[in-house]
Amino acid sequence: MSNSLWAIKAARIYAPRAEWKPGIILVENQTIKAVGTPDQVEIPAGVEVIDVGEHIIAPGFIDIHIHGAMGHRVDDGTEATLAIARYLPAQGTTAWLPTLLQPADIPAVVEAMSRQEDGAEVLGLNMEGPYLAPKQLPHEGDISTPVPSEAALLEYFSAAKGAIRLMSMAPELENAYAVIAAMRDLGIVPSVAHTKSGYAEFMRAVAAGAQHVTHAYNVMTGMHHRQPGTVGGVLTCDQVTAELIADGHHVHPVAMSVLIRCKGPQSVALITDSSRYQGLPDGDYGTHVKIGGIVRHKGYETAVDHTLAGSVWPMNHNVANVAELPHVTLVEAIEMATLTPARICGVAGRKGSIEPGKDADLVVIDEKINVQMTVVRGEIAYRAGSAGQQGG
Ligand SMILES: [Zn+2]
Repeated sequence: MSNSLWAIKAARIYAPRAEWKPGIILVENQTIKAVGTPDQVEIPAGVEVIDVGEHIIAPGFIDIHIHGAMGHRVDDGTEATLAIARYLPAQGTTAWLPTLLQPADIPAVVEAMSRQEDGAEVLGLNMEGPYLAPKQLPHEGDISTPVPSEAALLEYFSAAKGAIRLMSMAPELENAYAVIAAMRDLGIVPSVAHTKSGYAEFMRAVAAGAQHVTHAYNVMTGMHHRQPGTVGGVLTCDQVTAELIADGHHVHPVAMSVLIRCKGPQSVALITDSSRYQGLPDGDYGTHVKIGGIVRHKGYETAVDHTLAGSVWPMNHNVANVAELPHVTLVEAIEMATLTPARICGVAGRKGSIEPGKDADLVVIDEKINVQMTVVRGEIAYRAGSAGQQGG
């Protein structure tokens, strides 16, 4: 956009806590200058107005748990991370947390943060590893989890130049509760993940400072009526927020509904947990096989239950899935992909909603959440049908 001042107009704007029908947004440089009905917002003479007609304008999506896409993984390094960032606006994502399993990969992602010039904004890191209880599946061999330590946490934190926003922890690991408390001291949001621990251990982790749950239901103890497990804790404890992989394969729609009805849209963040295979065709990729929207480790092609190897669905698909659940409105589905994740990772002061003074991160969608246009910090980063615009 050559002009530093421009406007965009649509039949509906979902902010998401306020809405205008029709509405108009005035953008100045990287930020939102004004939003309201056409009567409320004064557009100076000569300012370009993009009219997107019957479409909906929402805040750009924020994906706080994603490993890769289009053949790239974040842990491939700096260039791969920047390539993923340039691809994400095509699914409406305007900001994200590259998600790592190994601390050795931190410096390359920090380098990407400092060099980034376009694409979805890297907000910091989500450290899903290394403090996960081993799943002990045959294909994992003998992966060993280091004993959590405050000293190691400080090393990771300084390698990341303080940019770790979220970090996972399995409560059953030795010293886990002390390291959860240490994360809080550093301003990292501690998240319970990949755990065989039960309800009592989960609640002890919350008492120690855990505030969040990594992909609720997946890789954690389920709820039995006499043993409520970690899932029982997630559903009933208002102190924790939760991630949901809403691709339609990782969590049954009924279980998605239960989570959202228990916690509310303000406490559930939609994530992709996408692997490098998102955006690639079905096929045999050596160690992994992609068939019909699911990726499994080779040898597990027909297995069910615990053997999915990451998701391959884009964020707009997941928002559409949730919007189709009974009792969930389109606006609530949008909130779970925008304001809620912004609050969880501490950026709601400048992202997650359409308000004057916030970053001009916008997505133009239709009823089915097909992405028509994406704006990242005031620049058009994607337009449907014109691939050349992407990341431009
Ligand atoms: Zn993950």
